[in-house]
Order: sequence, then C-alpha cells, then structure tokens
Amino acid sequence: MHLIDPGWGGEAAMGELERSLGVIGYSLDAVETVIATHFHPDHLGLCAAVREQVGARIILSSTERAVLAQETAPSRADELDVPAQLTRWGVPSDRQDELLASFGRSAEVDDLEPDLTMQHGERLPIAEHDLEIIETPGHTGGHVCLVDHRRHLVYSGDHVLPRIFAGIGLGTLPDTDPLHDYFTSLDRLAPMDDYQVLPGHEFRFIGLEGRREEIVNHHLRRTREVAALVPTLGDAPVWEYARRLTWTAGWDGMHDFWLHSALRQTELHKEFVETGRAERWLSVAASRDG
Ligand SMILES: [Zn+2]
Repeated sequence: MHLIDPGWGGEAAMGELERSLGVIGYSLDAVETVIATHFHPDHLGLCAAVREQVGARIILSSTERAVLAQETAPSRADELDVPAQLTRWGVPSDRQDELLASFGRSAEVDDLEPDLTMQHGERLPIAEHDLEIIETPGHTGGHVCLVDHRRHLVYSGDHVLPRIFAGIGLGTLPDTDPLHDYFTSLDRLAPMDDYQVLPGHEFRFIGLEGRREEIVNHHLRRTREVAALVPTLGDAPVWEYARRLTWTAGWDGMHDFWLHSALRQTELHKEFVETGRAERWLSVAASRDG
C-alpha cells in the first residue's frame, strides 16, 4: 500500500485515514510508502506520523525538499520581515493586522527529512507500480505530478484541479518566476492529455487538455489586467494594483488569508509583466485564439 498526499497532520486526520483504509480493506500497517506532491501541510502534514507509527518511508522531490527546508528554517521569520513586506505592498495601516495574522499560517508545517528524494524523469521504485516523476513547479517551487503510464493516470497534487484555481508561488526558491514556471509545467503534461487526472482536492476527471487551457486563460486574464494598469499606475505598490483587479469574491470580500493570497498573486503578475516574460505567453494565447 502506497499513499500519495495523505493530508493534514493531527489525530483526527490519522483516525480518518485509518477508517478510510479500513473501508477498502486495509490497515495502516500495510502502508509502505507515503509520497508528497509538495510540502503544503494539507498534503504532507500526516506523512511524519505515518512513518512514526508503521515505519513507512517518505518520498519527496529533491527541489521540494529544499523549498521545505527554506520555509521552515529558523531564520525564516527574520528573513521575511512581514511588516516591511506589507509596507512595500502598500497595505493601509488599518488592514495590516489581519495580514500579520495570516502570515503565521505557514508555521503549520514542520521540517522533515524524507527517506528518498526524487527528481524529474525518474521512475519511482515501487514494485507493482511504475510511476514517472514529472516536476511541475509553479504552485510551489518543487511540486511534482506522478504519472502511471500503464493505467493512464496522472496524480496531479495541486498542479491541476478540476474547478479550483490553485494559487501560484506559495513557497518558492529565490530567483524563480513562478508564473512562467507554472505555464511551462502545464505544457509539460500535454502528452498525458487523455489520461485520467487524480487531483489533491475535489474529484478525479478526464479532460486535461481543456482544463489546462482554462487554467492558463484564467491566469493570463489577470496578467492582462495588470499589464493594462501599468501605463497609469507605473511602479505604484501592489495594493493599488490588487484593488483594481477582478476577483471572484470581489475586492471587498477579501480578508485575512485570501487578501494575503490576492496580494501575493498580484505581486507575481506584476513581476511577470515587468520582466517581459508575460509577453511570450500572452502572444501564444493570442495566436491560439486567433
Ligand atoms: Zn498546495
């Protein structure tokens, strides 16, 4: 028995996992491997406890291992200097407190040493399964998808979800461009377009090609909105851009974590436009639509 993304840590989640395994006729003792597509606590959280309880080995991508180490480093809190970042983003003083609280959420993840690290193109050494590792950075810097070519399955983590648009750049290594990486990673799945997708949230689905296109268009819409604001806003802070963009929940509905995420996404799109990388993707989309 091998698990991918066992989910949140904690006793309640462990109980739920044991119950769920029981439903399909297994016990926790049968678990030999826990694989995490990326370091977020709703995917990786339970891995350490499963290893502790039954000795399962933990597998993580080597890039994501580096991202996790960076995110959980003791010096991280100082490096981040949240108040300075909020000021740089131009967050009004009466909104800073709720954002300060939301930054604490990343503390929910602990550092962890995997038993095995994996890299792009490698095959996982799991006897009866033949899983290829496809590095798909974007959501996080070292996110991977696992592909079972024999069964025509893609375990997609948070890279591709059927309805939700996952955030980009939620844990990255320095000097990377998460949007550019994300679009490149979506293209990387094209050979598996007719495979069934098993995502980390929601439900399994077929129709990867259409979903990849929807996701790219969703993000490029925001890139275009940001690009259109540049002539008037110039190097105004992120806040000034964010409040003029179109958000599903409406700008006034943005609070706490969601406001934090919106500002982070806006910052990424602004950088994407400023570096000139956005042009290539916008012109690819334009030529496809034309
Ligand atoms: Zn995630």
